[in-house]
Amino acid sequence: MHEIILCKLGEVVLKGLNRHSFEAKLMSNIRRRVTPFGRFRIYSRQSTIYVEPVEEGCDITAAYAACRQVFGVIAIARAMPCSKSVEAILENARTYLGDALRAAASFKVETRRADKSFPMGSIQVSQWVGGALQDAFPHLKVDVHHPELTVYVEIREDAAYVHAPPESAAGGLPVGMGGHAVSLLSGGIDSPVASYMIAKRGVQLEMVHFVSPPYTSQAARDKVLQLARELTPWTGRLAVHIIPFTEIQEEIRRSCPEDHFTLIMRRFMMRLADMLARELRCKALVTGENLGQVASQTMDALRVTGEVTDLPVLRPLIGMDKEEIVRLARRVGTFDTSILPYEDCCTVFTPRHPKTKPNPEEVREIESVLDVEGLCSRAMASREMIRIHP
Ligand code: ATP
Ligand code: MG
Repeated sequence: MHEIILCKLGEVVLKGLNRHSFEAKLMSNIRRRVTPFGRFRIYSRQSTIYVEPVEEGCDITAAYAACRQVFGVIAIARAMPCSKSVEAILENARTYLGDALRAAASFKVETRRADKSFPMGSIQVSQWVGGALQDAFPHLKVDVHHPELTVYVEIREDAAYVHAPPESAAGGLPVGMGGHAVSLLSGGIDSPVASYMIAKRGVQLEMVHFVSPPYTSQAARDKVLQLARELTPWTGRLAVHIIPFTEIQEEIRRSCPEDHFTLIMRRFMMRLADMLARELRCKALVTGENLGQVASQTMDALRVTGEVTDLPVLRPLIGMDKEEIVRLARRVGTFDTSILPYEDCCTVFTPRHPKTKPNPEEVREIESVLDVEGLCSRAMASREMIRIHP
C-alpha cells in the first residue's frame, strides 16, 4: 500500500446545505493542483479529502506541498494505510513513525473508528497500540494531556491509516466559491498580499496591471507577471490583463495641475478596472490600499478614487501595519520579487506635493477637460491578456 495525503476541511464543513458544492469545488481545485505530480484518486469521507496515488512514480512530496496551499484545506497529513488489524496497525506505526517515536519523549495514541464493525472500540485500540509501542520504544512515556507526539490511527471501511499530527495548511475557502473579482496588481509589496487575502476567501481573481511604456520597462512588466506566477500556488491559474496607461498619464500631465496627478491617475485605474470587471462579470475590485500609507490613501483620497466605480472596492490591507504586510508577503512568497527595484507607473510623474485632502467637486472639474471616455476605451482596446499557470 502507498502513502496517501489527508486534507482536513476547514470552514467548508460549516456551510450546511452548501457543503456538497464546497467539497466538490475543493476536490476539483485539489485535483487540478496535483495533476502535474502523477495520477491520484481524490475522494472525501467525513470532513477529510483523500488524495491517493494510483500509479507508480507519483511525487507525493510535491503533491503534499501543493495541497497545503489550496484554500479550504485547514490541516494536512501524510498517512500510511495498512490492513485492518491491531497487529498491522502497530507494525505500521513502528516503521512509518519510527523516527518520530525515537525522537519524542512522550506520546499518546488517538484512534478514530469510522468503521463501526471493527471488533475493538477506539479507546481499546489506542490502549493496545500504545502499550505495544511503549514495549517497542521503552524510553517513551505515555502522556495523554501534553504528549510530544500523537500517533493517529484511523480505521475506515477500506483500510486503517496511521499518521503523525497534521500540519496547518492554507485555511480559507475554496477558490471559485466566492465569485469573481478584478484585482489591481502593481509591482509593489501590498497588492500581491491583498490578492492573496481575497483569494483566500474563495474569490477567483482576474488580475489587471497598468503599464506606461516607455516610462515603465519590460523588466517592470515581467516582475508583475512573476508576482502573478508566485500567487498561483494559492490562487490557481490566473489571467493577467495588461492595460496601456501611457496616453492617459501624458494627458493628465499635460492638462491637470500637478498636485492632482496621482489622484486622477488612480481614478482612471479604477474606471478601467471597473470596465474590465463588467466585461468579465466580476463583482468587486481589489486593491492593496492601506489607510494613511501614502497621500493617495487618506480617507478623502480613497473617497475620490473610489467614487468612479459603484462596485465594492475590497481593500483587505486597509488597517494593517507595513510590518504585518511584509510578514505576510514573505509567507505568501512574493516579497523578494516585490522589492526588486523596478519603476511602476505610479512612480512616474509623481507630484512633489500631492493633494492629501482632495475635494471631490474640484477633482471632477479638473478632470472635465479630459476626454475620459475616449482615453478609457482606447486603453481597453489595446489591452492584452497573459495566462499564468501554477
Ligand atoms: P503596492 O505595494 O500594491 O504597489 P502602494 O502602497 O505602492 O501599493 P499605490 O502605488 O498608491 O500603493 O497603489 C495603490 C494600489 O493601486 C495598489 O495596491 C494596487 O492595487 C493599485 N495599483 C497601483 N499601481 C498599479 C499598476 N501599475 N497596475 C495595477 N494596479 C496598480
Ligand atoms: Mg505601488
